[in-house]
Amino acid sequence: MKEITPFTSFTPYSRQSISDEDKACVLEALSNPLITQGEINESFEKALANYAGTKHALSFNSATSALYALYASLRALDLGDLESFFYSLPSTDSNYKTKSIITTPITFSATANMMLACGFKPIFADVTFDGNLDPLKCEEILEEKKARGEDDVIAIMSVDYAGNSVDAEAFKTLAKKYDIKWLSDSSHALGASFKGSKVGSLAYASIFSFHALKSITTAEGGALLTNDSKLYEIAKLIRSHGMVKKELYHCDQVNLGFNFRLSEINAALGLSQLQRLDSFIDTRNELSNIYDAAFKDSSYFYPLKVKKEDDTRSSRHLYPILLDPKYHCAKESIVRRLLELNVGTQVHYKPLYNFSFFKDYKPKNEHGLLRNAEDFYRATLSLPLHCNLDKEDIGKIASIVIDVFDEI
Ligand SMILES: *Cc1c(COP(=O)(O)O)cnc(C)c1O
Repeated sequence: MKEITPFTSFTPYSRQSISDEDKACVLEALSNPLITQGEINESFEKALANYAGTKHALSFNSATSALYALYASLRALDLGDLESFFYSLPSTDSNYKTKSIITTPITFSATANMMLACGFKPIFADVTFDGNLDPLKCEEILEEKKARGEDDVIAIMSVDYAGNSVDAEAFKTLAKKYDIKWLSDSSHALGASFKGSKVGSLAYASIFSFHALKSITTAEGGALLTNDSKLYEIAKLIRSHGMVKKELYHCDQVNLGFNFRLSEINAALGLSQLQRLDSFIDTRNELSNIYDAAFKDSSYFYPLKVKKEDDTRSSRHLYPILLDPKYHCAKESIVRRLLELNVGTQVHYKPLYNFSFFKDYKPKNEHGLLRNAEDFYRATLSLPLHCNLDKEDIGKIASIVIDVFDEI
């Protein structure tokens, strides 16, 4: 049997890239009089809105906080009475009839967790072969509801899986047809575009994450982007104690609020990383192309299909391969063998309704699961892809991966 040479040193499936310039910006921020609630956050927000092409951007201390603020604001807008009452905890608000949000099970749990935290019920719909929410499956659910006279669905929350934009036109059409909001958890997709428009500008509201492993990082952080000034104002209140400042020391608290703010130190890192975003995305796409070429004749698996035509570009947050069903059972041994050879991998994601916490939200069909989502989970494996790797590294990793399948 062929002896496989391990990769030079262990590489995880993803890792941040921090430059000397990034470090200098962080140090400089530390010398400013304000290390929170200052101008760097304002600049970062402006730069984000400018980059994506939206009216507003709000920075948060995580995408999870930004998701919470988005769902809570949606509730406040749905309640309508914005003068006297914005938003309080769902459990104390008995007048509010529970509304639902259709979403994908192939995502990080925060997408659905924060819905529940804000009193919304997630309805999981199936995905297509690229791991993205299927607009046709969403429409089926909306049609069934219509036939039963149920009008509880308030929004659809899609996720740009691996950085590959969902079909924005289809979701815009659905939102219009059923008079609901299209929301996007674009945590994977800062820097991606769909038919010439940047992800972030497409949905009614979009969320980004700046966790260490996302397109750009603030170590921990996130953002909410929207063109709706009302949504922006409410989310801003929720971010900071629900407090409105008046003259001198006077203020009023009009809303339930939190402290979801990003520090100036983190924002300085974000602002510096944002300058590097396009080069990150170029690198990620170049490296992905090397994998694509190396794998094009493989009968063991195929790379995730991403849209490339019509000015559409993935941010290549992940590089998932989809195993042929023959190898689904061997996935654990493949992951173990790759680990021995210094190649770190990860599986994105187990369908959320399979977690015990979400057992009450299993799909309401015969088997309580979604066919494509289940197949996707069994097939998918994310290979190392990050900006500390070069083309040669990717070539080596690709050979190791193929050799491991040969061995099995
Ligand atoms: C990373 C991620 C989140 C959570 O982001 P945090 O900034 O860690 O809170 C939410 N949704 C998706 C799809 C993600 O990938």
